[in-house]
Amino acid sequence: MTADVLVLGAGVVGVATAEALMRRGLSVMLVDRASGPGEGASFANGGQLSYSYTDALASPSLLKRLPGILAATDPAFRVARRFDPDYLRWCLAFFAQGRAGRFAANSLAGLTLALRSRALMEELLARTPIDFAHAVPGKLLLHEDAGAFRAASAIAAAKRESGIEVRALNPGEAVEVEPALAAIASRLAGAIFSPGDAVGDPHLFCARLVEQLESQGLQTRFGATVDRIEPGNQPVLRLSSGGRLRGQQLVIAAGPQAAALLRPLGWQVPIMPVRGHSLTLPPGPSAPRVSITDVGRKLVFCRLGDRMRIAGLADVGFNSNAADPVRVAALRAAAHESLPDAADYAVTGPLWAGLRPVTPDSLPIVARRGAITVNVGHGGLGWTYALATAEQAAMLVVQER
Ligand SMILES: Cc1cc2nc3c(=O)[nH]c(=O)nc-3n(C[C@H](O)[C@H](O)[C@H](O)COP(=O)(O)OP(=O)(O)OC[C@H]3O[C@@H](n4cnc5c(N)ncnc54)[C@H](O)[C@@H]3O)c2cc1C
Repeated sequence: MTADVLVLGAGVVGVATAEALMRRGLSVMLVDRASGPGEGASFANGGQLSYSYTDALASPSLLKRLPGILAATDPAFRVARRFDPDYLRWCLAFFAQGRAGRFAANSLAGLTLALRSRALMEELLARTPIDFAHAVPGKLLLHEDAGAFRAASAIAAAKRESGIEVRALNPGEAVEVEPALAAIASRLAGAIFSPGDAVGDPHLFCARLVEQLESQGLQTRFGATVDRIEPGNQPVLRLSSGGRLRGQQLVIAAGPQAAALLRPLGWQVPIMPVRGHSLTLPPGPSAPRVSITDVGRKLVFCRLGDRMRIAGLADVGFNSNAADPVRVAALRAAAHESLPDAADYAVTGPLWAGLRPVTPDSLPIVARRGAITVNVGHGGLGWTYALATAEQAAMLVVQER
């Protein structure tokens, strides 16, 4: 089987890339080892389309938490104790990006991608109305630490000067925006509100968009594990089943697994799997409509239709996406402490873990060599960035060689 372009990986990034390529008149085959689209990190992530808030993971505030992180006393983080050179190199590169100047530059570059994604999402939904629990309830970042809130307010003021709708609220104003915060208002130093931020179910997005694209000629190969890539004028994907798939060009959108597939081609991409967990629970008696990020506890609450998605935790260097019951219990405890009435915490709910593909600077890598283009490394904001980097990758594919 052949196509103009093979896209390896059917998460939000691969599916969005397939759409961007087909819009340019190319024939596309989407290949994934899973049984359907959106079953990797894109399955049950936090659901936030965080268009106005794109802070890089490596930051001065993270560096301050480093002693607790290394001592494993900070519940939001775990760091694998490994001593292989690639792992240590990545950690050093990551911490180097935590300096104030790098953090500001990386967060700003992310903001540019996110705002582009918002415009592209509006265009996509105008062209192809699909149902994925998409809503624009805005987002509130809750701060309990007065110093951190002051710093965040200064950044919000700078964003507003650049025309981004975001404002700092005192606790009373935050409760006016989201009455579900009334019970915890006394704990808050303040909140940052971005009314234009959205939410949506990434798995449903992938599934519905693939259905649409299939009706327009998209070929799909699910249950197809790629063992090896043969580069060349027409790249070939060698499957574990023994089969081969050939395309005029190849786009790799395989999330954290991309690094291992690209290494034999002499292409190093600095991507670390950072595991996170989520719970999907029935809404509680005081469930927020606005999407919430608890900055200190590093948690998100996101209403997806009649479900409450709660996501968080960052386990650096953990390669397995099996949900860890101990970490799920930590997530549930932190969420209950943060917003006790947001969800029905007595329900076990589907437990899920996914691997964020994180680069040291928290920015995706979109690059082309010969007939191979990569679109990887979207970290904790891949749902937010997917449409913008899909467009970048599609433009690289159609460029003359
Ligand atoms: C707990 C958690 C919460 C998050 N919350 C948010 C959020 O609120 N907002 C946000 O913007 N982002 C969020 N993210 C980040 C976001 O989920 C990721 O950045 C995004 O899903 C990455 O998409 P992807 O398509 O690159 O990877 P994936 O969705 O992982 O897709 C990669 C695909 O490649 C396939 N694949 C890999 N290797 C092979 C192979 N050898 N052969 C065949 N197929 C292969 C996999 O099966 C998979 O389907 C969160 C992540 C986590 C873990």
